[in-house]
Amino acid sequence: MKSAVFDVCVSGSGAVARALALALSGQGWRVALACEPGSLAPREHDIRTYALNARAIAVLERLRIWPQLKQFASPVHEMCVKGDKGGELSFSAWQQCVSELAWIVDAGALERLLGDAIRYAPHVTQIDAVEGEALPVQAALLAVCEGKHSRTREALGASFSRREYGHWGLAARLKASRPHAGVARQWFRSPDVLALLPFHDPEPGASYGLVWSLPQERARQWLAEPAEVFEVGLMEAIRESDPAGAAQVGQLRLHGTPAAWPLAVAQASPWSGPGWVLLGDAAHQVHPLAGQGLNLGLADVDTLAAVLREAREREPWRSPGDERLLRRYERARWMPTRAMAGLTDGLLHLFAQDQGVVRELRNTGMGLLNQWSPLKRWLVGQALDR
Ligand SMILES: Cc1cc2nc3c(=O)[nH]c(=O)nc-3n(C[C@H](O)[C@H](O)[C@H](O)COP(=O)(O)OP(=O)(O)OC[C@H]3O[C@@H](n4cnc5c(N)ncnc54)[C@H](O)[C@@H]3O)c2cc1C
Repeated sequence: MKSAVFDVCVSGSGAVARALALALSGQGWRVALACEPGSLAPREHDIRTYALNARAIAVLERLRIWPQLKQFASPVHEMCVKGDKGGELSFSAWQQCVSELAWIVDAGALERLLGDAIRYAPHVTQIDAVEGEALPVQAALLAVCEGKHSRTREALGASFSRREYGHWGLAARLKASRPHAGVARQWFRSPDVLALLPFHDPEPGASYGLVWSLPQERARQWLAEPAEVFEVGLMEAIRESDPAGAAQVGQLRLHGTPAAWPLAVAQASPWSGPGWVLLGDAAHQVHPLAGQGLNLGLADVDTLAAVLREAREREPWRSPGDERLLRRYERARWMPTRAMAGLTDGLLHLFAQDQGVVRELRNTGMGLLNQWSPLKRWLVGQALDR
């Protein structure tokens, strides 16, 4: 194939690559999207539900994806977090003066709608990325959105320091016997963390997306169990942590087959160089306990698109691959991703300790934080990334 010339080549097949290709094409850049063959067609069902924050929703609104995706989304009005010895922390949208704390979206629907939009985007050319072969394009900027296992990142010489937690994130869809009332629930059970995200599918008003991070061996065992045994084990875990919460949730039934992903914390360095840049999980990976991985990736997209747009207006002599521009993006995104990785990692470590004093302190700390509205408001502001 003859080499074609583009402003930006986006390499990747996930939500971050798709969102970036759309955002840049919306600004009039000529974009090549190099993705795995067939990956834009509807794929195998992804059982995950994602919690998306205000900034991620704003990005999807600008990409004109949100009106359709909203039909596959449920708002979170309240969040209830429980410790492992009476500690409790709750947030509500009305106390924080926001209409919702987050939206829970269907992972498959998000990718599908982004893929549909790309098919009609005026300046995006989709090309097949074939492993081991050079891309048949020339572009001023190569934006690498290939996820945590990116080969291109490695070829560009960026390091990726990665620490495995030895835990898997187990995801499933659940039907509940009682309405969820827009309440998300999370239990820190040391060492596992269990979260129920209110959703509307399969049962409107009474479904949840489960995210349960637990030691790899136990995750493997749960995946091998028949549905009835899984359901009993899940209910027992919730009841053991929080009998009142278990009663509010009601009986949970599995819908579909659970799946699990290995969990790690990782950070690439550097994130950019002459003519290339990293975004999304290719640049950073965080534990899903705060539901922030994709939110960070969509914030990367937003920031890079803004840097390139501003540069075109104010410094039109610069090419999109100009290292100075890419460093502006890297500087803007480095701190927020480091902070989120530090926060999730710190919480995990705190709740992994089983000495009595530490347990007492962390639960007391949760109670104190719960009564301190300004700090709570600040925390919610960080999570919403407004
Ligand atoms: C259990 C679980 C729950 C989660 N919940 C949340 C949540 O509630 N909220 C949230 O914000 N985040 C959540 N996350 C994190 C979120 O899933 C990731 O951060 C997000 O999917 C990263 O998107 P990405 O596009 O950067 O990478 P990926 O989704 O990994 O996509 C990259 C894609 O590019 C492909 N690829 C690789 N190499 C190439 C190549 N050379 N050419 C073309 N394509 C290539 C890969 O195969 C892959 O399909 C969760 C994660 C897990 C595991």
